[in-house]
Amino acid sequence: MADKTTYHGSCHCGAVRYEAKSEPIAEALSCNCSMCRRKGTLFAFIPASDFDLKSGEEALSDYQFNKRVIHHLFCKTCGVTSFGRGTMPDGTETIALNVRCIDEIDPTTIRINHVDGKNF
Ligand SMILES: [Zn+2]
Repeated sequence: MADKTTYHGSCHCGAVRYEAKSEPIAEALSCNCSMCRRKGTLFAFIPASDFDLKSGEEALSDYQFNKRVIHHLFCKTCGVTSFGRGTMPDGTETIALNVRCIDEIDPTTIRINHVDGKNF
């Protein structure tokens, strides 16, 4: 297995900053659910243990809908969703990175996998 890479993400105003360790991210998930189709979020998932929120916990606002298993977090100041928190069916705490907010990733160069989230 390849070494994990450290990625740096942030919201637009910079209140929310994080470091995330992951296998090299070469693809992301684009979802057509009522939330993602509006936001255009591109997701990559990592275990919560590989996620380090450097600043901004108090800047985050939480939005939940439907089954309320996902915390759709966004910055209260700039409105950007740089990551979300969720729980896998087996109970593992998971972070959904918005790869659009990660410094090291150019979203035009990665593979986008479309997922039919509106029918989950
Ligand atoms: Zn912000």
